[in-house]
Amino acid sequence: MPAFVHPIASKLPRVGTTIFTVMSRLAAEHNAINLSQGFPDFDCAPELRALFTKYVNAGVNQYPPMAGIMPLREAITDKVQALYGATYDPEHEVTVVPGATYGIFTAIATLVHPGDEVLLFEPAYDSYAPAVEVAGGCPVYVQLRYPDYSIDWEAVQRAITPKTRMIVINTPNNPTATVLSGEDLRMLENVLRATDIVVVSDEVYEHIVFDGHRHQSVASFPGLAERSFVVSSFGKTYHVTGWKTGYVLAPRELMAEFRKVHQFNAFVTNSPVQYALAEYMQDRDAYLTLAAFYQKKRDFFLEGVKASRFQPLPSRGTFFQNLCYDRISDENDSDLAIRLTRERGVASIPVSVFYREPPAHRVLRFCFAKSEDTLARGAEILCRL
Ligand code: PMP
Ligand code: GLN
Repeated sequence: MPAFVHPIASKLPRVGTTIFTVMSRLAAEHNAINLSQGFPDFDCAPELRALFTKYVNAGVNQYPPMAGIMPLREAITDKVQALYGATYDPEHEVTVVPGATYGIFTAIATLVHPGDEVLLFEPAYDSYAPAVEVAGGCPVYVQLRYPDYSIDWEAVQRAITPKTRMIVINTPNNPTATVLSGEDLRMLENVLRATDIVVVSDEVYEHIVFDGHRHQSVASFPGLAERSFVVSSFGKTYHVTGWKTGYVLAPRELMAEFRKVHQFNAFVTNSPVQYALAEYMQDRDAYLTLAAFYQKKRDFFLEGVKASRFQPLPSRGTFFQNLCYDRISDENDSDLAIRLTRERGVASIPVSVFYREPPAHRVLRFCFAKSEDTLARGAEILCRL
């Protein structure tokens, strides 16, 4: 094809291919153990697979309703009521979407106008800033305090200006593997009280919180719920990242605006997947046992790297374990992650990609949503460094 000769006014001039695609491709090229991109290397429950084929074979193959099928919306609002004590109307306040990334992007596109400021915490999951920039908004960053990645609420307060339209929070957090406490959410509630700032709360790892702690959802805090889009994903919860299905909760007025945008983008979400999920959600154990399932994997991986020179940072939620490599190398994390993939056969994610400028600390992120065999082989390599 001849080259496109006209100048392209890129909306994302500084953005390349996502680190997840880059590292997974490199891992495949070098036949490395892939602990980089966050997805399970094991399959979902056979019952869930069977439900999907049941609905496909039953002919559930046409457009579902724009906001999602009612049985799934009801299953979601029932769950949120039971776990977080929050009442959402399935008719007007929940929308099923093709993945959490889409939900976040759409919430941002719905409300952010050119010149608006959106508060993000750094390190930030990599889809947030580009979504803000495509909408013409301006990301404004507040640093999480290393090494515990805690939030300085006074810094948040200082970052707010009359142009601040939105704040994006993420708990449990990718890439830091930390969780927000009830106290954090009360601070957020206070900071936002006198403003009309909207919250996008990315809670895709809501069911993966360790050591007996509970996930704190903005849905449980009335002063936050009334101004929040809560975004979650079935991909993490049911080991089906490839199904790309999630949901968004918001008060009726916010959701009405969200649906105006959604109806002209994806419009709907895959119908047989929705029916399968609605039926599967009746079994509450599947998500209530997820934290214990992943805690065991976290502990297995930690035991595996105990003899290594890496220093683990606390992993309180998600399926990621961060390891500091100060004692191993003074290379930057991207170079090290690439070299370990090529030369040692284990792939990870350099945490600096979630910052605008590389931070002083040296950390690699490892995904432990893997079989014990994979984790043991990966850990063995890490112990030899
Ligand atoms: N937010 C965070 C913090 C994530 O880690 C991910 C994906 N791993 C997503 C959003 C996107 O989820 P989905 O695959 O449903 O788009
Ligand atoms: N969220 C996943 C991770 O952090 C990857 C999702 C993606 O590849 N876009 O690894």
